[in-house]
Amino acid sequence: MRPVSASDGRDFVRSVSDKDVMAPLSRGAVRPRRIFIVGVRDPSAKEDAMRAAVITRLNSAWEFQDLADPEPGPGQVVVRIHACGMCYSDVLVHRGHWPVRLPIVPGHEPVGEVVALGPGTTTLRVGDRVGVSWMQRGEGRCAACQSWHPVACPHTTTWMDLGGGYADLMVAWETGCTLLPDGLDYTDAAVAFCAGFTSMSGLRNAEPRPGERVCVLGVGGLGHMAVQLAAAIGLETVVLTTSPDKAEYARELGAAEGVVVGDDPGKALADAGGADIILATTTSADLVARVLSGLRYGGRLVTMGVTGPLRIDDMTTLLFKQCSIKGSTHNNRSDLVEVLTLMAAGKVRPRVETYPFSEINEVLKRVEAGQVRYRAVLTPN
Ligand SMILES: [Zn+2]
Ligand SMILES: [Zn+2]
Repeated sequence: MRPVSASDGRDFVRSVSDKDVMAPLSRGAVRPRRIFIVGVRDPSAKEDAMRAAVITRLNSAWEFQDLADPEPGPGQVVVRIHACGMCYSDVLVHRGHWPVRLPIVPGHEPVGEVVALGPGTTTLRVGDRVGVSWMQRGEGRCAACQSWHPVACPHTTTWMDLGGGYADLMVAWETGCTLLPDGLDYTDAAVAFCAGFTSMSGLRNAEPRPGERVCVLGVGGLGHMAVQLAAAIGLETVVLTTSPDKAEYARELGAAEGVVVGDDPGKALADAGGADIILATTTSADLVARVLSGLRYGGRLVTMGVTGPLRIDDMTTLLFKQCSIKGSTHNNRSDLVEVLTLMAAGKVRPRVETYPFSEINEVLKRVEAGQVRYRAVLTPN
């Protein structure tokens, strides 16, 4: 078998027709002439088959398919997946809000063991325990890449180019893998690679100073990590949530206080003492806009969950209290390493529901309905 490379994957996908994609794929059924899965070779050559969950069409159940084992191209590795967390972005992918080319294996919180190295890999070894970041590699020559911020590269390579972690095996760029600390459980480690990474980058982007007070708005996969991370680095933290049960649980996560948000989240926060930093992990633009008035002088609101329009009417807070709003997602690799280190030290512990891969469609429904407490992690059957 010839090696798979990122460009191979893209070429495969470009050549797929709707007829190929929509053909029945179950075992024993009529198989399409060729199946093109991002990052995975033609499964008709399946001397080594692996199981994967595949999105074949939007808004439909993900299909389980037997696919040929991926082989690493230059600079790439193959990871045997031990766990892969699910986040709301998976729902957004499922609903068509991300520009994925179908069919594709989703899953962007994957961790596992390196089982094969492509030519030219220099740092990883077979047997290494790693996780794979959403953004794995920049094209290298743009201003963002040259300043070591491949996250801002317009041609960054992600799981959407190579395929993700809801599979027995996945291929990844060596540069997209981060070593897991010894002793850190795979199930917990998975959560670091999106929820933890996003939360820590949000916190670091707010440039917290000793003695400052942090408000975490929204307690889901991201928020429950954000609370713990802020507390772990010594900042007083208050939780703002629409769920009474989550407000109740805030102290267990390390918050000084949990506040249930009514009609005026900004007033609720101000009444609770205000905050220097708001880490807004909610997807609700309305909540984010209305919490702004709870900031103290010089405060910073960092939004991580809103993907649609955000309208700010409260210019008084921005102008007279000299406050600012910043967007944030996975940023510096050091943010991810910091999360892993805090987790390995026992200072941050994800609260997870674990499921076998076979229940992936039920888990997707739970995530979409906001029923997960607080992160769902899938493990191979
Ligand atoms: Zn670049
Ligand atoms: Zn995510």
